[in-house]
Amino acid sequence: MTAEKIDENSARSQAAELRAKLNKWADEYYTYDAPSVEDAEYDSTYQRLVELETAFPNIVEPDSPTQKVGDHTLPGFSKVTHDIPMLSLGDVFSESELAEFVARLTDNEAVGFEYNCELKIDGLAISLRYEQGKLVQGSTRGNGQIGEDITENLKTIKSIPQTLTRPIDIEVRGECYMPKESFVNLNEQRQRDGKPPFANPRNAAAGSLRQLDSKETAKRKLSTFMYNVANYDDLETNTQSGLLAELSDLGFTTNPDSRVATSMDEIDDYIKEFNEKRDSLAYGIDGIVIKVNDLTMHAKLGATVKVPRWAIAYKFPPEEAQTVVRDIEWTV
Ligand code: NAD
Repeated sequence: MTAEKIDENSARSQAAELRAKLNKWADEYYTYDAPSVEDAEYDSTYQRLVELETAFPNIVEPDSPTQKVGDHTLPGFSKVTHDIPMLSLGDVFSESELAEFVARLTDNEAVGFEYNCELKIDGLAISLRYEQGKLVQGSTRGNGQIGEDITENLKTIKSIPQTLTRPIDIEVRGECYMPKESFVNLNEQRQRDGKPPFANPRNAAAGSLRQLDSKETAKRKLSTFMYNVANYDDLETNTQSGLLAELSDLGFTTNPDSRVATSMDEIDDYIKEFNEKRDSLAYGIDGIVIKVNDLTMHAKLGATVKVPRWAIAYKFPPEEAQTVVRDIEWTV
């Protein structure tokens, strides 16, 4: 472990270098679905930027990757403005950081100890808008405010209902993913066709959803799990776990493995269980999402420009971890 002394000027120039790297990687990942570095390298570089910006708040800039969601949208698709922004999630990388997040909410915000634990599906966020129970628009997250209109492509996915069980107006959000088997088959096919393989199922799903020809998307065997509602005030439930049940009643596919935890031990058990089961699942997960179960607290806690305050992602350690541990001594 090395100790490091740093002043504001060198923090500013280091931060500028990190932002340039992260912005380049984000463009490769979000816009072109072709990352050149592993997620773990992106995440550790991002964490370093967070550390610098936390120690020196004056160096934060509005276009920093820490202040914005996702990235550009692809030309060729109409744009959709999200009336309710589509956010990212804050993340933690250890059970002790997760326990701190939970303790902060429980102590400072008087949140009762009830969390809905969900699998963090390794796909990309989508939004589906229904009018009178009919699917009228589907879009990507894009930069959180403006996404791509991919309605025709989403209509090819079997798990997305075109008509709900009730004729309501509702906007529903969730994850579109490519099952592992489809991913392997797709990359084998691409190899036979002399095309570069996709780096991971997440990038394959994103590339497949953003096809200009929906027949091409139809061949890619995508699927979805929905987990959130926007623009709808008539839910019968006031819990996240109840919301998933209502989504299922409306005709959506929800993940069967979510579970309410009422203690930190139960959250830890959930993490351990799914870290072990991870390889045997038919789809990729890169962590666990913990959400305050009481929906009234979601409205009360709100969100930052980038992430909700009522949820957090615990990310599993990468398959081959390469961790650089630093002990930074700030001189502000
Ligand atoms: P994220 O993927 O870390 O987490 C937020 C997303 O999780 C949500 O938007 C949603 O789409 C998804 N999600 C899955 N299951 C969910 C559930 N049950 N409930 C709620 N949300 C759920 O954040 P991000 O902003 O989409 O992407 C950032 C991450 O992408 C980075 O941490 C990094 O791992 C990766 N990335 C990699 C590169 C690279 O070059 N390798 C570049 C940019 C980003």
